Amino acid sequence: MLLNPDQARALLAHALENQYAILAVNADSHAAVIDCLEAARSCDAPIIIETSLWQLQGHSYGRGDALLGAARYLADLQVLAGSERYSDIPVIFHTDHIKGPIAMQLLCLLIEGYPLISDTQKMLLHPSTISLDASELTDEENIASICKLALAASAAGKSVTLEMESAVDDEITPPGKTKKLIGSVEEQYPGVIHLWAPGLGTQHGFSAEGFPEFSVDHVTANVELLEQLTGRRIGLALHGSSGLPAEQLSAAAQAGVIKVNWSSESLAIRSQAAQEFYQTHSEQLQRSHKQWKTTAMDNGLQSYISKAYIPIVEKRISLLHGSGQASSFISQMS
Ligand SMILES: [Zn+2]
Repeated sequence: MLLNPDQARALLAHALENQYAILAVNADSHAAVIDCLEAARSCDAPIIIETSLWQLQGHSYGRGDALLGAARYLADLQVLAGSERYSDIPVIFHTDHIKGPIAMQLLCLLIEGYPLISDTQKMLLHPSTISLDASELTDEENIASICKLALAASAAGKSVTLEMESAVDDEITPPGKTKKLIGSVEEQYPGVIHLWAPGLGTQHGFSAEGFPEFSVDHVTANVELLEQLTGRRIGLALHGSSGLPAEQLSAAAQAGVIKVNWSSESLAIRSQAAQEFYQTHSEQLQRSHKQWKTTAMDNGLQSYISKAYIPIVEKRISLLHGSGQASSFISQMS
């Protein structure tokens, strides 16, 4: 089931309470999305599907038009996550790394809801949770942008569940900066932030030697500080997890990281499997071969990738202690 912003908040709280993290896959095609749901289903785990601006504008979704891309993404997930096969899997759709001149307009429109109109009814599609890319913003711009999203929600009478980030690649976020960013938003719009993405010593992209600056102590310190600042428990989002050793990921998930973004490694697995498929199927792709059509169709390639990809997603979900948590959350909802 695709969660609305209030249900997403409840799921994030459930993760923090039960000491697990939800895998957040930066999925850039319909095939990647269905593989993630399939892995979540086999682990009985919640999952976050997230997209950045470049995916919304990418060929499989908006082909340059980010709003169209977001609408297609949301409509597809609404149907897929609502189907019988996945109806017991809590799915969050998260906007991740939305930046540039289009960011605020796009996010405000999505908070109000994208209208999907049929002959008989109008349905509004909303992301479950929202973040924007703060890497090029000053602290003041970051605070103002988050407050603007909260204001858009309040003006439209909608709920919004936000992730706020510091410039995650730049430094280990000092406590003073957390106080300034979270404190300022909380003062004006209390209760809208439910995820905090500070710099924790990891970086976006690959790192062959891991991230020596990362420590679970930074996670614990952030969660404690957030509670002091807001009076409620808020979990962390970890960006740049590709390359972090398994034991550190597992420990982070138990210490207060509740969302682990996963992009670089996911892309690498899918593209390498695609490369292998074309290398090993060159004969079947000759038009004289009796199987050339089934090999050439999208299903041929995507089913091949899926076999390589799903077991790795399942392993990562288990590493983050997510297995079994879907039914735990659903039973708590009802
Ligand atoms: Zn990120």
